[in-house]
Amino acid sequence: MSATQNRTISARVVDAIRDAIGPRDGFTPLHKPTFESHEWEYVKECIDTEWVSTAGSYVEQFEEDLAEYTGAEHAVVTVNGTAALHVSLRLAGVTPDDEVLVPALSFVATANAVAYLGATPHFVDSEERTLGVYPEKLGEYLDEIAEVRDGTCVNTQTGRPIKALVPMHTYGHPVALDALQDVAERYRLTIVEDAAESLGSLYKGTHTGTIGCLGALSFNGNKTITTGGGGAILTNDDDLADEALHLVRVAKEDHEWEYFHDQTGYNYRMPNLNAALGCAQLEQMPSFLERKRALADRYRDAFADVAGVSFFEEPDEARSNYWLNGLLLDEKVSDRRNAVLEATNEADLMTRPTWQLLSSLPMYEDCPRMDLSTAENLERRLINIPSTPTLVDSNSDQ
Ligand SMILES: *Cc1c(COP(=O)(O)O)cnc(C)c1O
Repeated sequence: MSATQNRTISARVVDAIRDAIGPRDGFTPLHKPTFESHEWEYVKECIDTEWVSTAGSYVEQFEEDLAEYTGAEHAVVTVNGTAALHVSLRLAGVTPDDEVLVPALSFVATANAVAYLGATPHFVDSEERTLGVYPEKLGEYLDEIAEVRDGTCVNTQTGRPIKALVPMHTYGHPVALDALQDVAERYRLTIVEDAAESLGSLYKGTHTGTIGCLGALSFNGNKTITTGGGGAILTNDDDLADEALHLVRVAKEDHEWEYFHDQTGYNYRMPNLNAALGCAQLEQMPSFLERKRALADRYRDAFADVAGVSFFEEPDEARSNYWLNGLLLDEKVSDRRNAVLEATNEADLMTRPTWQLLSSLPMYEDCPRMDLSTAENLERRLINIPSTPTLVDSNSDQ
């Protein structure tokens, strides 16, 4: 056995991360924002002109820029990604008696958006290849527990309609959308993509978030681009886009002075200050993506010969934005996960485990679910490592 293999897996992971990102002073966070464009200029303009809130011109500019960048017909910007998901699910027709299929392996917002509508999250398994919803297993499960009655999918065990499916592109890696669309078509499910993590990721050449009926993006501080807090709804449907815009502006009818609201809407519109930041951030997408890919390449090389752990790579048919880089511990060393987390954080390299499965959180523990064995397995083995694009800049000699 070689000397490297005799060392603990924790020490091997610390060394490999250092190898990839080079020597660092101080703490290296998981993902920090990068402001290298016109951020200051655009935000200052909002303050100088006093157009800081939702009526300013950057709001519509950011929507146009997002639509152009992603190829979506329409983008409607919101206060955060959770709000974008909430409104998207409402537009998908989700009502209080419904169930919505969501991955158990996701950030809590995916299930919360369902719960905000009074509906019930129904948890589905993930596949190791994409870290996202497992289409074949989902299809077989629905064959057992669901049937289509009068054009609506019904859970024959609970009697409730299953309206929608929310695939999430985990850490930026696109799920197998073709196969999921087949399942969704067979069971009349509306697809709402949770693309909060995957701006810039392509599935077979098409931007994630534009393939389902609706897609939700997030521009939280830790995402690929940030507006401070923010999100967007993407859709190719003109009517859905109009309704989305109406709902996020408290469902107020346009009028010179009257306050008429035709339904219970939401105060979810993105302010101009945030949109200004977004316009400047979006200008840098090509540069962010290029450097994130270069960083992923370095991690792949650095971990190539590290026993017990592998660097997670994008699925063959997709191009990932590599938002958060991930390591998968081998099954036989998965009990070392916390030791790896402790050693890396102690070495000032921020790492985090993946999310606790949503199906095990107190508010969702009684919700319906399929066999979640792959998600449970991934939960024990998956670790995220530093992923800020600028990590490649000062280490360009490698
Ligand atoms: C970030 C994120 C969201 C939305 O988050 P906000 O903080 O509300 O913008 C939704 N789903 C997933 C999977 C996310 O990672």
